[in-house]
Amino acid sequence: MSRPQPSIAIIGAGLSGLSCARVLTKAGFKFTIYEAGDAVGGRVRSDVVDGFTLDRGFQVLLPSYPEARRVLDYDDLELRPFYRGADVFYKGRFHRLADPFTHPRDSIKHTRDPFVSWMDKWRTLVLRKEVLTTRKIERRIPEMETEDYLRDFGFTEEFIDRFFRTFFGGVFLEKDLRTSARMFLFLYSMFSTGGAAIPARGMQSIPEQLAISLPPGSLRLNCPVASLQAGEITLTSGEIVKADHIILAVSEEAAARLMPEALPDKLLPARSTTSLYFTTEQPLPDLPIIYLDGDGKGPVNSACILSKISPDYAPPGQHLISTSIIGAPSSTELENVVRDQMARWFGEGAYQWRHLRSYQIRHALPEGRQLRLGDGPLQAVLAPGLYRCGDWCEDASINGALISGRRAAEAVLGSLA
Ligand SMILES: Cc1cc2nc3c(=O)[nH]c(=O)nc-3n(C[C@H](O)[C@H](O)[C@H](O)COP(=O)(O)OP(=O)(O)OC[C@H]3O[C@@H](n4cnc5c(N)ncnc54)[C@H](O)[C@@H]3O)c2cc1C
Repeated sequence: MSRPQPSIAIIGAGLSGLSCARVLTKAGFKFTIYEAGDAVGGRVRSDVVDGFTLDRGFQVLLPSYPEARRVLDYDDLELRPFYRGADVFYKGRFHRLADPFTHPRDSIKHTRDPFVSWMDKWRTLVLRKEVLTTRKIERRIPEMETEDYLRDFGFTEEFIDRFFRTFFGGVFLEKDLRTSARMFLFLYSMFSTGGAAIPARGMQSIPEQLAISLPPGSLRLNCPVASLQAGEITLTSGEIVKADHIILAVSEEAAARLMPEALPDKLLPARSTTSLYFTTEQPLPDLPIIYLDGDGKGPVNSACILSKISPDYAPPGQHLISTSIIGAPSSTELENVVRDQMARWFGEGAYQWRHLRSYQIRHALPEGRQLRLGDGPLQAVLAPGLYRCGDWCEDASINGALISGRRAAEAVLGSLA
């Protein structure tokens, strides 16, 4: 006689919940995912507006992420890579920083640009060598802020301000570079080995790919959970669901509402970001590169012409421009100020660009976990039959969310064994 299947409930169909579901499916267990939203993906969602694919906030996949490589089918996602480097706008013009290993010619061509000192170029190469040759380098250094790490490493203030504060400020969604240097080193090694990419038809293809292999009937959308305790969850509809194993796979804010004791510390305000999307048919630079605000005057920290990276993001003959701001400014003048800045970067034509949509994402990345990664992830088991996962348990990235989901599933399987 076969043993009765345990009942398993996953709350949240973001990347962590889907990754958890994937492992349980492979192990042959049934479960139900209760998702508050109208689709899977959580913070990785895209909308189609007038034929343009608009990701809900600018984000990229680093193809070297170890867990993403294990879990995702990159061929199916048709990843479109960014140019390895950046154009940094400083004192009235762009300065090209090219990765010498992927774009040696560009790197040589721009060698004489006084924008970066020889010392900083040398340090960049040394850092690259260190992250590539030291296994798990991020675990070998003490906890410290990224800014302190970069200073100690010998980078000049000028280079930290013009490049690191802008490029990694855009990744961390904070420009103080207070994020743990361990996170910085992990990401630096990921960028160094595989650069950045987006799926041809939008970031949401990532969670959709994971959701495709869910067993039929295992996903309940538009189904917010109102409360939970060991053995039982209550949906906002009033329905009560009994479950032997409950996995909380929500953001840190949602976890704080549903089960404050799941958080290791007091909830700190999340990091936020704002994206404004524009379109134009006017000619624009051809390179699939990221443009950075080296002046640091803002409000746009970075921009890119997404249709140059993946033409599928825009209808034929039209460009899709993404501009990203760190934080959530409330000014009604924002669109105009962004246009002013884009006119300085790309010419007066920016005043004719058509604004497609803006996204303000107030809870984009958790704060606490990013400050101290500690010696490992947060324990997945909260109490017998109760588990937690999400980027705030590992690190704030697609990779972190995928790993944490897997760990929660492994904890469930461990307790069943
Ligand atoms: C704008 C932006 C840019 C980013 N850029 C990058 C990047 O470039 N590279 C990178 O690696 N990472 C990036 N990230 C981070 C990455 O997207 C997240 O770390 C990851 O998606 C988090 O997944 P998660 O499953 O932990 O949480 P979430 O995606 O938040 O998923 C949680 C799910 O739980 C659901 N939920 C919440 N409450 C309830 C409830 N009560 N009942 C039922 N369901 C509920 C939510 O609807 C959601 O679907 C970015 C994030 C944002 C927002």
